[in-house]
Amino acid sequence: MNAMTVSPVPQTMRALSLVEAGNPPTLAVVERGVPTPGPGEVLLRVDACGFCHHDYLVMTGTLRRGVTPGVILGHEIAGTVVALGEGASALRTGDRVVSLLTAACGRCTRCQTGREHRCVNGAGIGHVRDGGFAEFVTLPEAALVAAPVGIDPQHAALLACPAGVALSGVEAGEVAAGDTVVITGAGGGLGSHAVLLAASKGAEVIAVTSSPDKLAGLESLGASMVIEVGDGPDLAEIVLAVTDDAGADVVIDTVGPPVWPGVLRCLGQYGRVALLGDVTGEPAPVRLAEVIFRDLRLSGVSGVSRRTLERCVEMAAAGELEPVLAEILPLTTRGVQEAVRMVAERRPLGRVVLTPA
Ligand SMILES: [Zn+2]
Ligand SMILES: [Zn+2]
Repeated sequence: MNAMTVSPVPQTMRALSLVEAGNPPTLAVVERGVPTPGPGEVLLRVDACGFCHHDYLVMTGTLRRGVTPGVILGHEIAGTVVALGEGASALRTGDRVVSLLTAACGRCTRCQTGREHRCVNGAGIGHVRDGGFAEFVTLPEAALVAAPVGIDPQHAALLACPAGVALSGVEAGEVAAGDTVVITGAGGGLGSHAVLLAASKGAEVIAVTSSPDKLAGLESLGASMVIEVGDGPDLAEIVLAVTDDAGADVVIDTVGPPVWPGVLRCLGQYGRVALLGDVTGEPAPVRLAEVIFRDLRLSGVSGVSRRTLERCVEMAAAGELEPVLAEILPLTTRGVQEAVRMVAERRPLGRVVLTPA
């Protein structure tokens, strides 16, 4: 099965260079040497890499903490194994894989307890170590999962982030059938997948978006109701009105400070909040009495475990999850600039994916 012919690996590759962070950022696709896989690593030919809001925040300079200068961005990688490093034995050339978001060691206590995304020896892909906005990338075998059969790489690239992260949010919020679930930033990558996954669990999904043109798209993903924020009565007033003042059971918040006051006030007794995004980095005030007297539970969700990614792979293979692909653009300077513009203008419903080929 793995005796696929893999074309010879060249010496150099095209890769995206963030020349200068800013708004808009200065970007260029440049020639770089093809990396050599270290012990336990493999070399992947990148087939597709999702353009995450994380990449956008680094490019605009909003997110700088922990970013290695000159790092190749991109952590939503689907690729094909083309070479094996010393001791790599779990994969073979020709295998198609998707990556976790962190190059996890597979050995530490957290890796051994299903928290690979917080591996104590881990390095964020496309953040600390080079990522997938390139023709090739080296990654540890421990950070890779077999891609689902019969799914194209553009969809497979989205199974860890945003799909797996969104599923982690749905699980952190303990979404169950019949729950009222408010999802902010619903038109974005994380939000659209949270809508899809919460609705598939039988929840009543209230999708919150700032883009009126995404209304029909969000309904087609399973939202029972779409609220446009920034216009008319605020989020909490609407949610309380449509739930007969009971409030929502769960909020999956992918936005943060701009919607935060409404997020807390729209929750009912024993409400749960899964926090998946902070688009501004500004403080978000909390009146603790609101949390205490409604017995609220707040959970931060920072990534996706191997188990949850594997669950997304199984769901995709079974036809139960089709990642929300907004647009495919080439890994060229103009292609990436267009991706940045689309995200800046909040145009995509779901994710933009870059393809090196
Ligand atoms: Zn991502
Ligand atoms: Zn580890």
